[in-house]
Amino acid sequence: MVEPNPSLSGARIERLHEHLAAALRRHGRLIYSNSLGAEAMVLTDVIWESFPEIEMFTIDTGRLHEESYLLLDRLQRRYGRTLRVVYPDARDLERLVGRQGMNGFYDSLEKRLECCRVRKVEPFRRAVEGFPAWVTGLRHAQSAGRAEAQVESWDEQHGLYKVSPLLDWSEADVWEYIRARRLPYNALHDKQYPSIGCSPCTRAIQPGESRRAGRWWWEQPETRECGLHPRNHAPATAPAAS
Ligand code: SF4
Repeated sequence: MVEPNPSLSGARIERLHEHLAAALRRHGRLIYSNSLGAEAMVLTDVIWESFPEIEMFTIDTGRLHEESYLLLDRLQRRYGRTLRVVYPDARDLERLVGRQGMNGFYDSLEKRLECCRVRKVEPFRRAVEGFPAWVTGLRHAQSAGRAEAQVESWDEQHGLYKVSPLLDWSEADVWEYIRARRLPYNALHDKQYPSIGCSPCTRAIQPGESRRAGRWWWEQPETRECGLHPRNHAPATAPAAS
């Protein structure tokens, strides 16, 4: 885990609140896709404490680590709220496993993307359907592919705006906030998992490796996204949502 960063300023936290408040004013309704990673603990805290009108869900792909399920329970106990859990369509899942077996995603990029589509992307689409914008915990420093992201962008792939209010936070900022607020967090972070995903597709990183090196580690770095965050982050040029 990263050491506390004494530079996390109240101004940065205020900006986070301002980004969410501005997005709510602009779009009316927002939904947050909770990844159960470290950034998600900051956003869960801010949203459930200060913006309860923002809806929230997490996706259970059926292949999560036990640590993620335990965290789900701890979050619900701390805040006294139920985090909506969205699941893959049962029949799509049956067909997927029938076609490629339980762990076919190791065989090829096509099979891996198909598994992510059925277990993550399709449940995500169902959850955000009808919303004008969704909130994500992306940060610029997470990967080269995210360095150009903007606080608000048009998500062409899913047909709604994407709001990323933590973009300018460092990993140390995230951990300082978690410690200062004594928030629950995923126990995998203490086992060298900076980025949390499905159990068979995520492993601990070695010293010096990038924080996403443990995600789909057998693939080339440029393919290591699940389909929720396309590589091109276009500016917010689409018509304003009501
Ligand atoms: S991360 Fe792995 S197990 Fe999870 S949905 Fe994608 S391919 Fe399937």
